[in-house]
Amino acid sequence: MAAADLPIKISELFYSIQGESTRAGLPCVFIRLSGCNLRCRYCDSQYTFPDGESRSISAIMAYAAHYPAAIIEVTGGEPLCQTNTIPLLRKLQEAGRTVLLETNGSLDLAPVPDGVIKIMDLKCPDSGMSNKMRLANLQHLSPADELKFVLTSRRDYEWAVGIIRRQLPEALSTSPLPAILFSAVPNKLEAAVLSAWILKDQLPVRLQLQIHKIIWPESERGV
Ligand code: SF4
Repeated sequence: MAAADLPIKISELFYSIQGESTRAGLPCVFIRLSGCNLRCRYCDSQYTFPDGESRSISAIMAYAAHYPAAIIEVTGGEPLCQTNTIPLLRKLQEAGRTVLLETNGSLDLAPVPDGVIKIMDLKCPDSGMSNKMRLANLQHLSPADELKFVLTSRRDYEWAVGIIRRQLPEALSTSPLPAILFSAVPNKLEAAVLSAWILKDQLPVRLQLQIHKIIWPESERGV
């Protein structure tokens, strides 16, 4: 089967403002794939767990082509659960698009094509999933990639600080570090409290807020 005909299970396709990452605020096409191998306690994307609608890579490309100036984020669920995600990423790159891959850190990042911007969401202890993390993935991060921590508690914060002060520099001994993003789980940890911790410890991290939820508080995805 030609790569363009390969099927992908989709939860939703939509065009909105990127709410997170260093590209927050940019127009973005979201390709949200269905299925996830984890069950984080705070998950706000449980609707992606069941099998979604099957679409060919060429159909997804045709949707993205309606928004040629937008960046593209492939997300989930966990997009690397589907083997056809890698050819999808390649096809989007061949079309000249800027492609972000949001991934939960538990599956091997080695097959991800060079040039795809990886946003690795490393799960902290209070997600209940930190024992599933594949810390060897840290060595696959480049300065163009991003490492994200979603924090529920002081325990999560201290775990994340340990990763960025010890494991990350060891894994990337000669490279500049990727961008590091800290965000607080709503109703669990106040952004002001997290901000105070970051400032006190003088961490080289970026606090991120989910700006799509500020713009459209009634809608998970905006628009
Ligand atoms: S990895 Fe993401 S989609 Fe999967 S359970 Fe965790 S928060 Fe939900």
